[in-house]
Amino acid sequence: MPDPELVVVWRITEHCDLGCAFCAYSRHLRRPRLSAGPAQVLAFGALLKEYATTYQRDVLVSWLGGEPLRWPPLFKVSHTFKNGFNLRLGVTTNGTALNSESVRRRLVEDFDQLTISVDGLGDFHDRGRDAPGLFEQLRLNIQSLSELKRNTGHGPLLRVNTILMRDNIRNFETLCRAVAEWGVQEITFNALGGRDRPEFFPDHRLLPEQVEQFCEALPGIRARMAQPGLTILGSEHYLERLQNWSLNLQSPISDCSPGQRFLFIDERGFIAPCSFTLQDYGIHLSEIRGPRDLAQLPSRLATRKRDKMSAPCFDCPSTHVFGKFVGGLGSLT
Ligand code: SF4
Repeated sequence: MPDPELVVVWRITEHCDLGCAFCAYSRHLRRPRLSAGPAQVLAFGALLKEYATTYQRDVLVSWLGGEPLRWPPLFKVSHTFKNGFNLRLGVTTNGTALNSESVRRRLVEDFDQLTISVDGLGDFHDRGRDAPGLFEQLRLNIQSLSELKRNTGHGPLLRVNTILMRDNIRNFETLCRAVAEWGVQEITFNALGGRDRPEFFPDHRLLPEQVEQFCEALPGIRARMAQPGLTILGSEHYLERLQNWSLNLQSPISDCSPGQRFLFIDERGFIAPCSFTLQDYGIHLSEIRGPRDLAQLPSRLATRKRDKMSAPCFDCPSTHVFGKFVGGLGSLT
């Protein structure tokens, strides 16, 4: 049986044009803002191509930020990744750049998955992201993307990711219904975390009783959303993780098979099993000189983890490990 797809999530920039109250990359924060160098990104893309050919394995590269669509070389680099290197491509975006028709066209031409962040309806989304009118813009632009996909007969899987908080979890089904009407095919969710903005967290984190009600209601919501064609992703294990989180119960993971199916790269070029362990397990891309080095990376990462487990592994915050993306059309597991 062929190896499952390798997913590489690459945070290519720490710049962002929005001012979200819960995010470490909010434009309101004074902090260092680095971006990846396009030459390094292209060089590693070429290596991924060699790896995919040598080991007969699909590779999906998914850009993350900050706001990746505001990284100036993004579309040129992506075109090469798609057409020169034959890699699958995804991107997670706040959606402000979708106002541009040429951005929408390029996404439809070169991308396999597009994930747009939407936290709630209308004003709720706009206030949380400090962007008046953004929700309405997203509605129009995602509808335009769906239409473009219909007209051209191809284009990315359209997915929304939403952050569940005390203030919006009760409106999850209404949000699902709205985005399904725009042509969105899948929705993922995660719970508000406290790492990025500890000052925002206590008043907005999910309450245990809210998570319990959500888990009870989810099968019904899933069934009702099937009709307009929206799939709600997330495994049973993921829901358990959500419940434990809300109850402050730890979820240690002794073996996450680091690097076997999922890799994270940051803007400085460090590669690790997830974004939370870059400091302890991260290896610089300059140390990976060929497909063989990449094939051996999981065993190097596992050794590092065995020798000294990084603090986040004692309460693993990596949603993909618990099945956030299980049950969908595209894969990011
Ligand atoms: S934090 Fe989770 S995903 Fe990251 S290395 Fe530790 S166990 Fe694996």
